[in-house]
Amino acid sequence: MILFENYRKEVVRMRPGPGGPRPPMGANPQPRPKNIKELPKYLVALLGGFFNRFFYILKLVWKTGRWIPFLLFFVALFRGVSPVIGSLISQRILNALQDVIRVGGLPEHNFWASGILYLLIALFVYRLLILVVNSISSALNRIAGEKIVNEVKVQIMEKSKEVDLSSYDNPAFYEKMENANQEAGHRPLSVLTETFGIISYLIEFISFLIILFTAPGLSLLTLIILLVSIPSAVTNFIFRRKNFGYMRWRSKERRQMHYFSNILVDKDLMKEIRLFDLADTFIARYKAVFAKYFKGLRKLIFEENVWHILFAVISGACNLFFYIIIAKQVFTGEIQIGDYTLYTGAIASVATCVSNLISASGNVYQGTLFIDNLISFMNEKPRIVPQIRPAREVAHGRLHTIEFKNVSFRYPGSHKDVIKNVSFTIEPGQTLALVGLNGAGKTTLIKLMTRLYDTTEGQILLDGVDIKEYDLKSLYRTFGIIFQDFGRYAATVEENIRFGSIHSDASFDAVKYASKQSAASEYIETLPDGYNTPLMRFFEHNGTELSIGQWQKLAIARAFYGDSDIMILDEPTASLDAIAEQNVFNQFDKLTHDKTTIFVSHRLSSATIADQIVVLENGELIEKGNHQELMALQGKYYNLFSTQSKRYIQPSAEEATI
Ligand code: ADP
Repeated sequence: MILFENYRKEVVRMRPGPGGPRPPMGANPQPRPKNIKELPKYLVALLGGFFNRFFYILKLVWKTGRWIPFLLFFVALFRGVSPVIGSLISQRILNALQDVIRVGGLPEHNFWASGILYLLIALFVYRLLILVVNSISSALNRIAGEKIVNEVKVQIMEKSKEVDLSSYDNPAFYEKMENANQEAGHRPLSVLTETFGIISYLIEFISFLIILFTAPGLSLLTLIILLVSIPSAVTNFIFRRKNFGYMRWRSKERRQMHYFSNILVDKDLMKEIRLFDLADTFIARYKAVFAKYFKGLRKLIFEENVWHILFAVISGACNLFFYIIIAKQVFTGEIQIGDYTLYTGAIASVATCVSNLISASGNVYQGTLFIDNLISFMNEKPRIVPQIRPAREVAHGRLHTIEFKNVSFRYPGSHKDVIKNVSFTIEPGQTLALVGLNGAGKTTLIKLMTRLYDTTEGQILLDGVDIKEYDLKSLYRTFGIIFQDFGRYAATVEENIRFGSIHSDASFDAVKYASKQSAASEYIETLPDGYNTPLMRFFEHNGTELSIGQWQKLAIARAFYGDSDIMILDEPTASLDAIAEQNVFNQFDKLTHDKTTIFVSHRLSSATIADQIVVLENGELIEKGNHQELMALQGKYYNLFSTQSKRYIQPSAEEATI
């Protein structure tokens, strides 16, 4: 069931949304300006968007640990000034040595008094400092990284508690949430380190520029180097945007690739894939999607690198010209050998700084765009909230009335009502059976009753009050529910049962009692560690895998364990055999005689115990009454019941051959 559900989710996610293809993932970079007049507005919006996202990241990192931005800032300052200091010390050492060479050497005792020794010590201290700062900063960076990832993951988990279930049905939202979950963890720190990287590159860049501009006869050439770097910067930005746009555009293909490659490593799907010989089909699909994705990417990578090579040749030629001029100055004695290393080093550093600045700004820009996934997920406003303040509390521990008044509903993004003008009342303590063919709307009705979704029209009243007026936690606590696709948790057997009422501190006997009611105790007692047996083999080597029927019994035990006022069982016995099912319903009937109970079952024999049966067809309530009344009516229920009972008693020739 869960597998099928996962598959369905994938299909839902892949299916284009209403009104054309699904919007691509992530941020929407500013639409391009149509003409030159729109350019300033475009630039302002672009910068505005950038700063918004950047401050969001800063706030996030600040919340994680105030020391992080400070640390990054000081490291950035140090990294900015240290290369210049290093070059200046080396220049002084070389010049001092050259002076000595010029005079043909000096006596040894002059060496100790020459100042060269102090310069060498300064060089040593400088290198040591770099080493120390680098190791401290890399250790702290790792710590900060882990803390930020943790902060973002917790924020996402906290937020997902309140996001409407209907948002999960929206493929665009689902995609954003997944991307936020995957990307947002590491993006904030990388954006921040890159930003502080920009600060250090800028300091280094400006310091070396000052050195070059103040050097004799080099100012004009420095200007040329700067001018040459501009087209390279612009091209880099253009390709960043193109790359990002391409990734967004091909987001469906990337997710398809992920899906196809995961299918073949999915333990549960493997049985079917082997027996139906589907592996080659999915591998072929993967390859086809990859080819589509890669075609455009290859073109982009190729184009980008053609430009890179072109700019590298131009700047290389300029550098060569520069080096020749400086070497000539040494040759004519205008400058010393130490100055040569300083100036040529400065040129190399200026060029590296420009390219680092370009790529760091590109990374920051791209990183902030990805952060949009996180921002839009975090800004998602839940609509399923109490409509009055303060919200009402449900009076727990008593019998309740539920009334559907002209309820209609359509799923978000759908054009079809799946529940149509349904009205009925469940009296206190009644047992209600919801009956109908697959897709009739039974589960949807339960989702509406428990306010997982809001009705499109009409009202649902609990004890005469619109369910929208209740506090959500209080409302949810009223229902003990097992869905068709109940949860299977990688936890111990006992925990799987206790999840039915997580805040209760009932004794272990209550757990055992619940599992006895659902007949789960029969197999639990044969497990190696009984109630302590870990289930599923995700984490524990001794984890036990249960059959679907065994899981179902466990899920029913979970519902029995909780002490909710209204019990809901949505086809809870689908994987049980007829006898086990009858036993569960008998237990259920016994245990819930003082509760309001609702169940959906495809086996109508279980509906006979219900006080009221509601028959749904295509979202419409077509019949209601108890078993006798509906049988007497000789309508839809009568037909369904007669067909099923015939099948149990004496299979028809046609059915027997199936
Ligand atoms: P039943 O429980 O009677 O089998 P459901 O209530 O699950 O039926 O489904 C009723 C209808 O609503 C079906 O047509 C189904 O395809 C549609 N439906 C169910 N869930 C969703 C969803 N999340 N988004 C869109 N349509 C849905």
